[in-house]
Amino acid sequence: MTKPTVYFSDRNTESTNNMLDKLERICGELGLPDAIGEGDRVMIKTHYGLVGNTNHVRPVFVRTVVDLVKRAGGIPFVADTCGLGYGSERPYGGRTTAPDYLMRAEMNGYASSVVGAPLLLADGYWGVDTYEEKIDGDFVDSVSVAAAAMNCDKIVVLSHAKFHHIGIASALKNMGVGMVGKKSKTAVHAPRGLEILQEKCIGKDCSKCIPVCPTRCITVEDTVSVDMSKCVQCGHCSSICSGKVRAKALKVAWTGDNMAERIVENAMGVINAVGSEKIYYINLALDISDMCDCVCYGAPLLMHDLGIFGSRDPTAIDHATLKKMETAHRNEVAASISKIDGLVQKSQAFFEHALKVRLGAVEYDFIQID
Ligand code: SF4
Ligand code: SF4
Repeated sequence: MTKPTVYFSDRNTESTNNMLDKLERICGELGLPDAIGEGDRVMIKTHYGLVGNTNHVRPVFVRTVVDLVKRAGGIPFVADTCGLGYGSERPYGGRTTAPDYLMRAEMNGYASSVVGAPLLLADGYWGVDTYEEKIDGDFVDSVSVAAAAMNCDKIVVLSHAKFHHIGIASALKNMGVGMVGKKSKTAVHAPRGLEILQEKCIGKDCSKCIPVCPTRCITVEDTVSVDMSKCVQCGHCSSICSGKVRAKALKVAWTGDNMAERIVENAMGVINAVGSEKIYYINLALDISDMCDCVCYGAPLLMHDLGIFGSRDPTAIDHATLKKMETAHRNEVAASISKIDGLVQKSQAFFEHALKVRLGAVEYDFIQID
């Protein structure tokens, strides 16, 4: 098998070579402009960030890819997916539905007038507009792929490379969490799924869980019942019942067991469904903290900015990004020095599992471009 290539351009800039020039150059090295045919539909998958998060991908990077796609003759659109849970509370809220999230995305600068293309939530209004892809994973047997991804000619996975409590959060996570519907997001964060404790239900006079259920599979008489054949594990009802009503009759416990492995398997499902030949990966290793962009604050930065990576292999690009993170100049912020070593160690679970399920490579040609 041919070794994949990872391209890298560092954070050194000058007037004739800024970070946007570098991003274009990486796209060129990947062969993206030449691969786009006239009228091709090109999804640029990024993360719009929660309001208050100031570390997320700056919209101008997305605009740069949009313009490149247009010049090549393609029809770009920009996409993210809905978040888990129901409501707008901190630290994760406000991404329940497409209008909730798009309104907040605009506050972060993600507007079509800014990025130059329509913005959407690839998994629809409720985050449940998906295509089911069966896989033979150790932890996951079916992946709910965001439906909009299924009709694309090309996908640019434009990820913010940073950490998360389970290690590196970049291309694999942008696919395995960011390109799936709520059912598969729950399979990563809360693998036990929806738990029902009927004895705790207040009964019909409450009924607050009914209108938030996207599949209308809840009925309440003396107690609650859920038609599990229709439940998509979105957790909306649990946010209301456990979070607002505090009855705890409907619960989704965020245990995060084998989270890295589940993310890898979800990513595999997305790639199988869409086709690996359509996908181009770019990691922006800038503003690197230990928190995802789905939290409502920009966590302190752990290290100096690294630059931009590009590859056709999601595992290789994350592996090369982590290698650079490991040796980066570390910032003297609270606990960052020891924290990074622990996060690098935890990240290995992604690569071990990716190799096990044959998703990409950790041996690759690394080419630095200026
Ligand atoms: S929100 Fe909870 S307590 Fe209220 S009806 Fe639904 S299950 Fe019962
Ligand atoms: S019953 Fe299932 S589909 Fe309905 S809100 Fe609860 S988790 Fe979502």
